[in-house]
Amino acid sequence: TASIFAAVEMAPRDPILGLNEAYNADTRSNKVNLGVGVYYNDNGKIPLLAAVKAAEEARLKNAPPRGYQPIEGLGAYNTAVQNLLFGAGNALAEAGRLVTAEALGGTGALKIGADFLKRLSPEATVYISDPSWENHRALFESAGFKVENYPYYDAATRGVNFAGMKAALLSYAPGSIIVLHACCHNPTGADLSDAQWAEVVEACRERGLVPFLDMAYQGFAEGIDADAVAVRAFAASGLQFFISSSFSKSFSLYGERVGALTIITSGKEESGRVLSQLKRVIRTNYSNPPIHGGAIVAAVLSDAGLRAQWEEELAGMRDRIRAMRTGLVEKLKARNVAQDFSFVVGQRGMFSYTGLTAAQVDKLKDEYGIYAVSTGRICLAALNNQNIDYVADAIAKVV
Ligand code: PLP
Repeated sequence: TASIFAAVEMAPRDPILGLNEAYNADTRSNKVNLGVGVYYNDNGKIPLLAAVKAAEEARLKNAPPRGYQPIEGLGAYNTAVQNLLFGAGNALAEAGRLVTAEALGGTGALKIGADFLKRLSPEATVYISDPSWENHRALFESAGFKVENYPYYDAATRGVNFAGMKAALLSYAPGSIIVLHACCHNPTGADLSDAQWAEVVEACRERGLVPFLDMAYQGFAEGIDADAVAVRAFAASGLQFFISSSFSKSFSLYGERVGALTIITSGKEESGRVLSQLKRVIRTNYSNPPIHGGAIVAAVLSDAGLRAQWEEELAGMRDRIRAMRTGLVEKLKARNVAQDFSFVVGQRGMFSYTGLTAAQVDKLKDEYGIYAVSTGRICLAALNNQNIDYVADAIAKVV
């Protein structure tokens, strides 16, 4: 008899994972993978932060039991998340307007947020930026939503088409869900200015939209507080909104899956009801989150010494990425590349939309073993002092 799986079709390959597979199979010793979405240090390795290592050693020494966590995760962790987002002693926490649940990375936070929203407003349309992190669409579609794009990137100016974005927001039906990159836009590296964020907040208020801020890179642009400008502009507005946050990058804890969903309600009593429903969503997905990653982040953030050490290490990652941005631009200029790449310096976060065409990206791969996403997205954090000259040479030859 036929297998019950006989009709299962092969799913399309994830474009980024496909790139990694091709890179791994490449036997050239000078190959470079600029397609990744993680931070590598100057030795080309994913760092284990010293603050994380210290917290882990202390935790291991204590040998804590491994009981279940509360459905919404560790209280100390959730408070630490809120303090990073809104600042310690913030008015929202005081007013009981914050509901935070530990989640399985930023992805898990988006997923429980999407599932919660689907119960709340099943007919709403979700709008994501054009372009966006490729999982945004799939994630909200898998929660059952219709997903559309709002105008965002302007290839001509290499910045944001803000007029187009704002006009689109003002045209959407009340109750529409708007997914916004809080900082370090992935994949373009183009962010809104503070003044533009204020206009987005007003547009959301005017149209009755439901903002969902995705904060996956807090601390990677300018610093913890500076990168929270959008979050704090919404916080000051009195609106209700959603935030997914992630410590994958800022703590270099990718595989531990540490993130959180924060829902900003109108008040304490409402928060109780919202949390009770969010817990149902979590309970029926994975029951409660794992212990280790959240415990480590909470331990680092609640100890003054470890926190200072972490902030220094975070600044080190941010500064190294910036140095790679300026370094690449200078090296291209030094190689007399006619095309102006200076915009790369002004982009924020790990990524740059370089403007390299799909054909140029192919050439980089075929002739030099340098892998980038076909859209021209490169990860600056994959550059280092050993490979940057080679990459600049190769780009100078293909453009
Ligand atoms: N949101 C954006 C914009 C991202 O770039 C990423 C990771 O690449 C995530 C969410 C997911 O983060 P996590 O690995 O914590 O699930």
